[in-house]
Amino acid sequence: MDNLITGSEGNIVHLAGRRDFRFIFQDVTEYIYIDGPIDAVLHFASPASPVDYLKYPIQTLKVGALGTHKALGLARAKGARFLLASTSEVYGDPEVHPQPETYLGKVNAIGPRGVYDEAKRFAEAMTMAYHRAHQVDTRIVRIFNTYGPRMRLDDGRVVPNFVGQALRGEPLTVHGDGSQTRSFCYVDDLIEGIYRLLLSNYTLPVNIGNPAEKTIRELAHLVQEMTGGTSEIVIHAQKRIEDDPQTRQPDITRARGSARLGAADRP
Ligand code: UDP
Repeated sequence: MDNLITGSEGNIVHLAGRRDFRFIFQDVTEYIYIDGPIDAVLHFASPASPVDYLKYPIQTLKVGALGTHKALGLARAKGARFLLASTSEVYGDPEVHPQPETYLGKVNAIGPRGVYDEAKRFAEAMTMAYHRAHQVDTRIVRIFNTYGPRMRLDDGRVVPNFVGQALRGEPLTVHGDGSQTRSFCYVDDLIEGIYRLLLSNYTLPVNIGNPAEKTIRELAHLVQEMTGGTSEIVIHAQKRIEDDPQTRQPDITRARGSARLGAADRP
């Protein structure tokens, strides 16, 4: 289910002929009606690139709030398990490094990134409220920076941006001085982790990501090297979005502990 505000049907054409796959074009902030039984509701709806959520600030707040409410309502009505895709952005520009799930974060609610951060923080609160008040069987994954096939080249996130720029022979645009860090996880590994979490019985938030941390400048050099070294690296000091986190690295101790549960439960 998707309203394709930032996604594209092209990403799922290869699934179109499958009898066990169905696509529903819908905005999940509206009431969701599904006929028949449901085992699990996985709520991933939201713009996730800073460029996208700055372009759609109100839709981002609405999908985190109203969309999470509708998706939880569906899970409750069907007696289905519910998984929320949350984010490392709930930690804001962190003062604790690396970030364990117990860190409560440093978020600027009224800054430009606040629309995403607060939407996801509200979504986590709503998920725990449905868990406690309605006994919905819930899971919360906090997803750290991820990359992989089928990202839009104009998605705005740093990996597709740098790769696209390098392949077009354009300069790689480092925002700020490039000393800020991120930790990038390949999408297949992320999905494996999320699937194990879904099958586990762990109801508190779990970080999933790759703890290998890099500066953005190091990432630019890596992309430059891997694409043949012809693109130059340029520093755009003023392009850095306000409240852009200076450091980010997941503490995945909790995931390592609960991973065993998921692995044992696997069909
Ligand atoms: N960034 C950059 N050049 C770009 C795009 C992003 O230097 O062309 C930086 C951005 O300022 C941030 C980091 O790369 O510090 C990661 O940004 P991204 O948009 O991928 O996601 P975020 O982790 O900030 O949500």
